[in-house]
Amino acid sequence: MDCIFCKIIDGSIPSKKVYEDDKMLAFHDVNPQAPVHVIMIPKEHIPSADAVTEENSAYIAHIFSKVPEIAKSLGLENGYRIVNNCKADAGQTVFHLHFHLLGGKPLGLEMA
Ligand code: AMP
Ligand code: ZN
Repeated sequence: MDCIFCKIIDGSIPSKKVYEDDKMLAFHDVNPQAPVHVIMIPKEHIPSADAVTEENSAYIAHIFSKVPEIAKSLGLENGYRIVNNCKADAGQTVFHLHFHLLGGKPLGLEMA
């Protein structure tokens, strides 16, 4: 499948990993919008938030269960923002569900 994030999961595209287990991967965004900008993805190809189902939602729950640990490891004790862009009107560019974890400064009303 021609998916950048699936290729990051299988290692054929390199990434700067911050956390990995059997269900998810977190890595630094190549084009950071904040001092800390990490992408968190499920190791299942779910195209967008609009494709979440009862069956695959355990991947999303798992990602959120690891957020406090990942945020702490990145020094985000003052807080952070989690963003998901879903399909065209939100400007989604990579069609493998992902959550942006943003922080490292006081964030305004823009995404970061
Ligand atoms: P979105 O616009 O919400 O679909 O976000 C896609 C994000 O993936 C953007 O912030 C890109 O900078 C990021 N991105 C694209 N390719 C890579 C890559 N190879 N490694 C890390 N981040 C990437
Ligand atoms: Zn994928």
